[in-house]
Amino acid sequence: MIIAERKPVDEIVEMVSGVKRVLVLGCRGCVSICSAGGEREVEILASLLRLGASKQGRTLETIEATLVRQCDREYIEGIDQWAGQYDAIVSMACGVGVNFIANLRPLDVVYPGVNTSFFGGSADQGIWTEQCAGCGNCVLHLTGGLCPVARCAKSLMNGPCGGSVGGRCEIHKEVPCIWQAIHDRLDRTGRKEDMSRIAPIRDWSAAGHGGPRKQVRDDLTV
Ligand code: SF4
Ligand code: SF4
Repeated sequence: MIIAERKPVDEIVEMVSGVKRVLVLGCRGCVSICSAGGEREVEILASLLRLGASKQGRTLETIEATLVRQCDREYIEGIDQWAGQYDAIVSMACGVGVNFIANLRPLDVVYPGVNTSFFGGSADQGIWTEQCAGCGNCVLHLTGGLCPVARCAKSLMNGPCGGSVGGRCEIHKEVPCIWQAIHDRLDRTGRKEDMSRIAPIRDWSAAGHGGPRKQVRDDLTV
């Protein structure tokens, strides 16, 4: 899922400092699961924004709502029900949701309520770790299912770099050297021969370095 965390309240209060009525809009997708932008967080943020405005000596009206998803045209259209009742939207979805609102609602002012961090999973209660960078050319079949793009500090395709000590990355001592983990795992699963493979120079164009990426499924388009 996409991992995000709420922006500092002061930053959001500043964004809406010239606004009288704000629609605080959550999303029931990833940001809800990682407790950054679901129904509960919408309620808390709306309350904090009213408090922040009141400390500045002004009144802020808030509408609180949470869409099924903000990355889908179908649900974005649901915002119409609050037409004329808000001056700006604070989206608590990931950056995709904010962009979708901006794309589809040219007259709406939209602000981000969260910082979108990475694609990750829940490692423990309240702890999420990055697992994939959406590089567009997955190599996990060669690396024992562990991602060198997202999980190696240097995104090396042939590792380790030689700097790891005791299985720890030389850049971040608190995280494992993923290339050590890849080698250990390939060894454990009887795939040692994969370690002698030299990955060729990588074409990063699929990673979006040439601009925003697009995927079209002809079998799904109408
Ligand atoms: S190789 Fe690319 S697509 Fe596969 S997990 Fe890593 S970043 Fe994601
Ligand atoms: S120590 Fe391992 S994880 Fe860290 S940069 Fe080197 S190869 Fe990558």
